[in-house]
This record gives sequence, structure tokens and C-alpha cells, in this order.
Amino acid sequence: ALYLSLMAFNPINKFISFPAYVCSSLSHATRLSHGKEILIDNSKDSPNVDLKKLKATTPDISIIPYMYGNPIDISEYSNNIIEDCCQSLGAKIKGTLTGLLGDIGIFSFYATKIITTGGQGGMIVSKNNETIKKIRNFLDYDQKLDQYSKFNFTLTDLQASVGIQQLKKLPTFLKRREFIFNKYDEALPMFKNLDNNIDPIYYRALLKCKNPKKVVEKLNLKNIHAVLPMENWIDENKFPNAYDFCSNHVSLPIYPSLTDDDVERIISVTRQIQLE
Ligand SMILES: *Cc1c(COP(=O)(O)O)cnc(C)c1O
Repeated sequence: ALYLSLMAFNPINKFISFPAYVCSSLSHATRLSHGKEILIDNSKDSPNVDLKKLKATTPDISIIPYMYGNPIDISEYSNNIIEDCCQSLGAKIKGTLTGLLGDIGIFSFYATKIITTGGQGGMIVSKNNETIKKIRNFLDYDQKLDQYSKFNFTLTDLQASVGIQQLKKLPTFLKRREFIFNKYDEALPMFKNLDNNIDPIYYRALLKCKNPKKVVEKLNLKNIHAVLPMENWIDENKFPNAYDFCSNHVSLPIYPSLTDDDVERIISVTRQIQLE
């Protein structure tokens, strides 16, 4: 979806910006589409990109991921934006769903995301008909004889039917995630969105702590599958805020089928661990 979205902007040799703090797929899609990447630091104490810094670099195209279900208001910044909503399906900014604020929104239906189409899959949304037409033309080459190169990027019918059923469950999935997050938040120092204009979703539950690797090790020893939400490959000198965020958070288990007993156990074990 991201590659197709970039192709809609004629990306060759264009400057494409995205945060240093994000999974490597953005870098791969940028290179694959022959754009030139510009990495941007996060805002302080935030998993999201610093929009002021982004604006200052004046890229041709910007990919803005809403990390862990927390959108940021991009209304002041409207130049060729791809909203990466892989972690924010259902989240809102001032009442508008993410994916409908920029030029294009992309979503992932990989197994670990909010909903899945059976393991892999993705989606593109745009309010711009021309953009959608361009992308549709690109992702299916059958019976077309124009000059554009194309590839087969289509989802299978079976995947689509899994996705439709998953979509029906989205409201209950989101409610359960919020319930679990609130339980953690009552008992533990959690990263939390404090912007009143934002309705986040709870893709991840981030525990604040000083030594993430050690905390993960200790939780794993008790059979709690906490993880580092991001590998810390970030250059501390170039991207101090992203580095800082990486160095102070651990991701606790959060998914709809986690039972109340599991949640209670995770809380009581975590409370016994030194976090500072
Ligand atoms: C998962 C994810 C991707 C990549 O999605 P895939 O479908 O796994 O390729 C891109 N961006 C973000 C923010 C993600 O969380």
C-alpha cells in the first residue's frame, strides 16, 4: 500500500520524509520507489514525528505514521501527505478518522495489527478520485494497454472476506484494548495521550521505565511477552528525542483475547519489577 501510494506521487528522485522512529518498511518503500529519504526526529516525549521539524525540511512527500494508535494533528501541514495508519485504524483527530486527513491513508492487515486479512494484507484510502484511479490502474495489469508499468498488487477474495468479518469486530476489539489499557494505566506508569482533540486507539500499551532491555528480560522470565516496541538503531546525536523515547519504554501485551486474569497477573508481576 505504501509503495503504491508513493507511486501515485511520481516519486523518482523526490525527497520523501518520515520519522527516524518507525519500522524499516518506510525506508524500503522509499528506496524501492527511487525517492530520497529524509529522516526526522520525534517531538519530545512522543512516539510521533515533530511536525515543525518536518515542515522545516520542505520534503516533496511526507509519510506520517501515527505510532501506537496516537494520531497527531496534521491540518496545518498539507503537502503530499501519506498518513501511515497501520497502527491507528479507528483513531480520530477532532472527530475525523485517520486516513482521511492527508492525501492518502495506508493501513496494514498483517497478523499483529488491529485487524487482519488472514496474515498479510493492506488498504489504501483517499478522498481524491484521481489518486485512487491512478493507484487502481497500477495494481492490476490485466486487459490494459496504456503506457504505464503495472504489477499485480491485488488482495485475494478469500483475504477480503476475512477482512470484512474482522472489520465487523473492530468496535469490540477497540473497546477491549481500551479496557486493558485503562487497567494498566490505573496501576502502572504508562505512556498516555493527553491531547483532548485526539481519540487514540490502544495498539500498544507502553510502560515507562529506565532500562527497557532489563525490564523485558525480567517479564519474559515470568512468561510475559513484553517486547521493545522499536529496535534502538537510532542515532542519538541526530535524533535525540526518538532515541530518548526508545530508551524509556517497553511494550506490555495488549490484544483483545487477553483475559482479565492475564491482565491482573501482568500488573502484579510488573509492579514487583524495578522500573526506575
Ligand atoms: C506494520 C507497519 C507497517 C508495515 O506493514 P506490513 O503490512 O507489515 O508491511 C508500516 N508502518 C507501520 C507504522 C506499521 O506499524
